[in-house]
Amino acid sequence: MDEPRVAIVGRPNVGKSTLFNRLAGRRKSITASTPGVTRDEVDERAEIGGVPLRLVDTGGFTADAGGELISRIRERCRDAVRTAEVVLFVVDVTEISGEDEELAEMLRPAEDRLLLVANKVDNEKRELLVPDLYRFGLGDPYPVSAEHGIGMRDLEEAIAGRLSALTGYAGAPGSSSSRR
Ligand code: GDP
Repeated sequence: MDEPRVAIVGRPNVGKSTLFNRLAGRRKSITASTPGVTRDEVDERAEIGGVPLRLVDTGGFTADAGGELISRIRERCRDAVRTAEVVLFVVDVTEISGEDEELAEMLRPAEDRLLLVANKVDNEKRELLVPDLYRFGLGDPYPVSAEHGIGMRDLEEAIAGRLSALTGYAGAPGSSSSRR
């Protein structure tokens, strides 16, 4: 595949799937109705800010995975960081947990490829919670409401900007060097 990859990572229920659907331009959500339900990794072609790319949702996990859960999330995060040009680290601004802190630590070495997405910023009151996310030390958080489509333009511009800066990818057909 020639398109750069944009991977969405984060603990369960922060809104990864909802954000995936929003960024993929889908009207109808394929978000599972049961929270924490198992989903395989979803991978889809999309275009963001004029840049064609592959959008990867690292998926959900079963609620009964217990102690295994965090290690499985870590594993998928590690894979995403290895294989993606841009990693969207999604947190739920209303509920920051120890798992988020752990993932942030793990993702720190890939900071130059990372965008911190503060999801569920549905209203002005929740905007007040956003500055707290600077404690992750992962740069400026991008406040969005994936469910209501708020803040998407800034995030999309940031994604496109990162892709141009990091890969020099201009979106021109045939511009890529490796073809398989
Ligand atoms: P995932 O497990 O990280 O993929 O999370 P999902 O996309 O399945 O979303 C988990 C829950 O959060 C669902 O009930 C969504 O409707 C809800 N959700 C997602 N985005 C938002 C948002 O922007 N605002 C609010 N209030 N809820 C959201």
